[in-house]
Amino acid sequence: MNPMSDIASSESPAGDKADRRGGRAGAPLRPGTLYVVATPIGNMGDLSPRAREVLGSVALVAAEDTRHTGQLLTHAGITARLVSLHEHNEAGRVDEILARLRAGDTVALVTDAGTPLISDPGYRLLAALRAASLPVSPVPGPCAAIAALSVAGLPTDRFYFEGFLPARSAARTARLQELAPRGETLVFYESTNRLGDTLTDAIAVFGPERPAAVGRELTKLHETVYRGSLAEVRAAVLADPGGDRGECTWLLAGSGAEKTTDEAELARVVGILAAELPASQAASLAARLTGASRKAAYRLASGQAPAED
Ligand code: SAM
Repeated sequence: MNPMSDIASSESPAGDKADRRGGRAGAPLRPGTLYVVATPIGNMGDLSPRAREVLGSVALVAAEDTRHTGQLLTHAGITARLVSLHEHNEAGRVDEILARLRAGDTVALVTDAGTPLISDPGYRLLAALRAASLPVSPVPGPCAAIAALSVAGLPTDRFYFEGFLPARSAARTARLQELAPRGETLVFYESTNRLGDTLTDAIAVFGPERPAAVGRELTKLHETVYRGSLAEVRAAVLADPGGDRGECTWLLAGSGAEKTTDEAELARVVGILAAELPASQAASLAARLTGASRKAAYRLASGQAPAED
C-alpha cells in the first residue's frame, strides 16, 4: 500500500524529480530538508516570494488541511504534491515524512494560516527531526500573535505567548489567575464568539483598568484594532456589530502597567515629545516638565515596559 495514499494532488510541477529535490535556480533547496513555511493569516498578498518559490519547488507539501492549502496554492499559481498532516494523524505521518527526507526529498510543512507549530500542528514532526538530526529551515512570515503585538501599542520588549485559554469559564479564570503576576505583555488567541466572555473573566482577574488590545480580522477586509483599558476594549467589541465575527488575537499589558494619574500624564507628555525628538531628548524634557524621573521617562520614550516596583 502506498504510504502516501491520501495524497490530495499528484500534479507534478514543471521539472523532473531531481529539480524538485534540488530546487530551482534562484531558490536552491537543500536536499533532504524540511522547510517550515508561514502562509497568510488572511491577506493573500502576504505570501512571500520565497514561500511561493519553496512551495512550488519541494517534492512534497505536508499540510494541516490539504483542501485549504490546495486553494492557497491554486490562488498562487502553484502546483504541488500535498499530503495531510494534522493534529489527529501527525504521530502516524512522522515516519513517512522522515523516510522521504532521508531519501533526499525536500518537504514543506504548512498549516491553514500563519506560522506552523504556533498553536498549530507540527511539533511532533519537528521533535522527530531534531532527534534524528535531520536538517530544517524556516521560511518565516505571517503570525497572528506577532501581527497583533506589532499594532497593539503595548510594551513589546518582553511578551508571553499563552495561545488559547480553556473554553470553560472556571478553567479559564483559573489560568488567568496563574498569569496575573506576569510582568510581560500577554498574548492570547481566542475565537471571536467567546471573546466577550473571556474579556469579562479577564476583567474579574486583572481589573477593568488594565491596558488591553484586540486585533480582529488582521490583514483582512474587516480588520479592526481595539485599544484601551480592558473595560473599554470589551465595550467596544460588544458594541461593534461585527465584533463577534472572524478571528481575533487579544493582548493584555503585564502587571504594574495600570497607570496612576501621574504616570498617565508622563506617558502623554513623553508621547508628544517622542514623536518629534530622539528618545533621550524627549525623556529629558518630559522629566523636567512632569517632575518624573528621567529613567521612567526614558523607558516610555524608548518603548520599554515600565519598571516594576
Ligand atoms: N499558527 C497561526 C499563526 O501563526 O498565527 C495561528 C493558528 S491558531 C489555530 C488560529 C488563531 O490565530 C485564531 O483562532 C485567532 O485567535 C488567531 N488568528 C488567526 N488569524 C487571525 C487574524 N487574521 N486576525 C486575528 N487573529 C487571527
